[in-house]
Amino acid sequence: MSGGPLPDDAPEAGYDYDMIVIGGGSGGLAVSKEASALGKKVAVFDFVKPSPAGTTWGLGGTCVNVGCIPKKLMHQAGLHGGNIEDAKSFGWNVGATTHSWETMVSNVQDHIGSLNWGYKVQLRDKAVTYKNEFAKFVDAHTIETEDKRGRKKTYTSRRFVIACGGRPTYDADIDPSLYITSDDLFSLEKPPGKTLVVGASYVALECAGFISHLGMEAHVMMRSIPLRGFDQQMSNMIVDYMEGKAADADGNIVSIGDSEGGEHRPTTQFIKGAVVDTVVGTADGKKTVTWKSSDGGQVMGTDTYDTILYAIGRQACTGALALDTVGVATERNGKMKTTCEQTNVPHIYAIGDVIYGQLELTPVAIQAGRLLARRLFGGSTMQMDYDQVPTTVFTPIEYGCTGLSEEDAIEKFGEENLEVFHSYYQPLEWTVPHKQDNACYMKMICNKLDSFRVVGFHVLGPNAGEITQGVGVAVKCGATKEDFDNTVGIHPTVGEEITTLEVTKSSGVEATKSGC
Ligand code: FAD
Ligand code: NDP
Repeated sequence: MSGGPLPDDAPEAGYDYDMIVIGGGSGGLAVSKEASALGKKVAVFDFVKPSPAGTTWGLGGTCVNVGCIPKKLMHQAGLHGGNIEDAKSFGWNVGATTHSWETMVSNVQDHIGSLNWGYKVQLRDKAVTYKNEFAKFVDAHTIETEDKRGRKKTYTSRRFVIACGGRPTYDADIDPSLYITSDDLFSLEKPPGKTLVVGASYVALECAGFISHLGMEAHVMMRSIPLRGFDQQMSNMIVDYMEGKAADADGNIVSIGDSEGGEHRPTTQFIKGAVVDTVVGTADGKKTVTWKSSDGGQVMGTDTYDTILYAIGRQACTGALALDTVGVATERNGKMKTTCEQTNVPHIYAIGDVIYGQLELTPVAIQAGRLLARRLFGGSTMQMDYDQVPTTVFTPIEYGCTGLSEEDAIEKFGEENLEVFHSYYQPLEWTVPHKQDNACYMKMICNKLDSFRVVGFHVLGPNAGEITQGVGVAVKCGATKEDFDNTVGIHPTVGEEITTLEVTKSSGVEATKSGC
């Protein structure tokens, strides 16, 4: 859609609610609480249909139940395994260690349960009506809902916000009883064991990373490139790291087993350029997978797994909303094009993962929801800015970024107008346990035509998310390379690297670090 928001002249009174929100996830909870705080009568409808494997969960949406929260906690569980290994180099006498998947899942799920409860309390305290009912439109101002016992009701509202998020995509050619998705992984009662992860984006790489770091064999089936849409130099470095490879001082890719010090970290095997052909269940509950090349369809290999985890993207949950009955237009992937979060129907808005062409991230959904409520009911004119949103991929080596990838920066500004400052650095805490040199990397992409303003920042290394959150503010404020250079570093941290980047890619000078 183009142009400004559409005029909305429906009468203000005569409905059950001023605003009904469909979906009680990150965005839905944020917009409903904010609207209620601004004096509006608000109801939020949230209902989780079980996954094909039968998994269901409580209030709070994807992030809390089957996304960011359990994923980050399990990533942390994986990192702890490495920390225990490192501790030996620092003098700790560590006996034989084992990991209990059951204990981890139980404790993570307890935490999620407390968050689910906390959300209910918040809604009650903020006078938002919460209904655990599945909603669909019946006319422009009416929804029909169904609860878990099949009881149906109707409610009317002046405005609606669609915040129903997405669910994992399933492979239509494979029996869904033979595989799971991220909807099921975080509450699995038994460890997944030897796992094939299909897909090579965020969800796939993060899950494969923690599964291998918890001591299980993980294979990733990558159809084309890793982390489509992200800077490909960084994405390929993640794959190298997960495979147990890194660049040596001369830029050659070596296996960590060959590197000095002989670090032995868990690795993930990548099956590249391949897609699943068939999956057959075995008598003992395992799954035999045959795969073929993603281009020609030639059979490439076969293996048997305890678990297959599909992470091939997500589908917007708009199909069941009967949007056609109210004239809301959707794109082929079920998402809605919006202008200032307004759909093509003036009193129906959308936020979060259901917006076409925008980032699927929790803070994006929350911010868009809050700002929308303030504009609708608080007299604000502040719009959501989807540009320069920092994000982090929580793979075993974390990757944080904000702004443009190098590829996108080149396309936008031209290679000759950019200077890329970069460094392979080694965190101090990696030196004593002799962890891989040159696995950590940082680059800052600057626009030479605009005072070397930073247009992209990328970091691979421990705590990349924490570093990128801070850098994200500076980049959003329009910081230049000189601003970073003029900032005094905090020694000895990984983050101080942002203040000392000197070597440019164009110089061809070696970007490895030595000394402090
Ligand atoms: P959701 O949180 O998905 O909420 C939608 C809610 O609406 C759900 O509860 C759904 O059941 C309900 N619903 C759907 N249809 C109806 C209906 N008709 N009636 C009633 N209720 C309905 N983002 C990050 O920022 N950082 C991360 O580290 C991160 N990690 C992730 C890891 C994984 C494995 C996944 C899958 C996602 C991750 N994300 C992460 C993305 C993040 O979870 C989403 O962007 C965010 O949850 C989107 O919020 P939302 O409000 O749009 O939808
Ligand atoms: P994406 O849509 O980002 O990626 C899908 C992946 O699956 C790609 O690697 C794609 O390969 C592959 N794929 C698609 N179809 C097939 C197929 N039929 N066979 C084999 N491979 C296939 O999905 P994700 O689920 O990873 O992530 C969804 C969103 O969730 C992200 O965009 C992100 O915003 C959010 N998220 C955020 C996180 C964070 O902030 N840390 C973590 C996790 C998710 P190809 O490239 O070849 O198309």
